[in-house]
Amino acid sequence: LADRLQNTIQKIRGKGKVNEADVKEMMRDVKLALLEADVNFKVVREFVKKVSERAVGQEVLKSLTPGQQVVKVVKEELTDLMGGEQSKIAVSNRPPTVIMMVGLQGAGKTTTTGKLANLLRKKYNRSPLLVAADIYRPAAIKQLETLGKQLSMPVFSLGDQVSPVEIAKQAIAKAKEDHNDYVLIDTAGRLHVDEALMDELKQIKELSNPDEIFLVVDAMTGQDAVNVAESFNEQLGLTGVVLTKLDGDTRGGAALSIRSVTNTPIKFVGLGEKMDALEPFHPERMASRILGMGDVLTLIEKAQANVDEEKAKELQQKIRTANFTFDDFLDQLGQVRKMGPLEDILKMMPGANKIKGLNNLQIDEKQITHVEAIIQSMTKEEKIHPELINASRRRRIAKGSGTSVPEVNRLLKQFEDMKKMMKQMTGMSPKGKKKGGFK
Ligand code: GDP
Ligand code: MG
Repeated sequence: LADRLQNTIQKIRGKGKVNEADVKEMMRDVKLALLEADVNFKVVREFVKKVSERAVGQEVLKSLTPGQQVVKVVKEELTDLMGGEQSKIAVSNRPPTVIMMVGLQGAGKTTTTGKLANLLRKKYNRSPLLVAADIYRPAAIKQLETLGKQLSMPVFSLGDQVSPVEIAKQAIAKAKEDHNDYVLIDTAGRLHVDEALMDELKQIKELSNPDEIFLVVDAMTGQDAVNVAESFNEQLGLTGVVLTKLDGDTRGGAALSIRSVTNTPIKFVGLGEKMDALEPFHPERMASRILGMGDVLTLIEKAQANVDEEKAKELQQKIRTANFTFDDFLDQLGQVRKMGPLEDILKMMPGANKIKGLNNLQIDEKQITHVEAIIQSMTKEEKIHPELINASRRRRIAKGSGTSVPEVNRLLKQFEDMKKMMKQMTGMSPKGKKKGGFK
């Protein structure tokens, strides 16, 4: 999706004059791109109609920068399509706040329950109780207990012989007793939507009177995710959707369609298997990302959460000016390491999807150690002017760092790619407007 849209947008952005035919052509591309990305055709039709109307209207054609105006309209409508403002998570005025996690088997309910608990504690200073109410899937209880242990958070379970409804009931009583302000109920899933499952979920809902019912859906399932969301919403009345596995090779279609088909906001997105890989969904940022402006805000927020303000500013500045040497790289590696897997971070940068080979770029912890060793084996001059590093220098560096020439080559190539990427970002200034919030 992103690739195709970006080309079209690149074309129209710079235009000093835009006529109806230009808009039409662009909208044809946008339409194809969205359909290709598995966005529901009704949603696409509606979207194209809206954008076209606005784009050929006065506000655009008469403006000084019509090309940019069209892009702005597309972005605004795209944001709108995904729910406009970022939505918040409920807080009950009579604690505990009860959240039910529902969804098909394998969607990521149990994992997301852990991640959400982690987020609630880390970001909002809450103390959640995790409830193991999936008594059917072998080892489901164990899985949640393991996550609880890993997070040092309490998990409520009564084994697999007590009904999920009873488990939920007792869990809420226990939470009151222990002053847990959130109760996250991890329910069972099936491979397909079925009646027995829905009945059970309805009973849990009736009894626990949840403040939120979050549907967890796998973004990789594309159009199917929309159908699943539709039927869960009809039966249970959802308050939010968590879209998981957005870190994978997904087409963005699900995110675009779910909101407009079910009228249920996407509240969080899952970006990996680790417990910190859950983020609030920002429609505006998602729209920017799709349009190729990169998710700079998320990137910077990540940086700020993990490094101190000063360092984050520095990083921002370095990225902006593309004034970046191997020394900086080394310096940042330590910081970057704290922000999560490097590949995830690179993927968030504007234009990153255009760089060949980036998708295959896998940097694990051991590799980072190698990278550090390689850089440390460079001379001062080489770090600033990597173009000096010829074949014999490569051999020397490989030897000095205890790595191999191909590894050195790879790093040099990656560094070059990264610098290119940063150049693309130069001149871009993300508007730091923050919307919504928790409290
Ligand atoms: P459940 O059956 O709905 O409870 O699903 P699980 O929580 O057991 O997750 C199924 C699999 O998906 C596990 O291997 C998780 O690690 C994985 N998973 C869940 N969320 C994400 C995500 O956001 N990204 C990735 N890459 N994997 C995820
Ligand atoms: Mg599960």
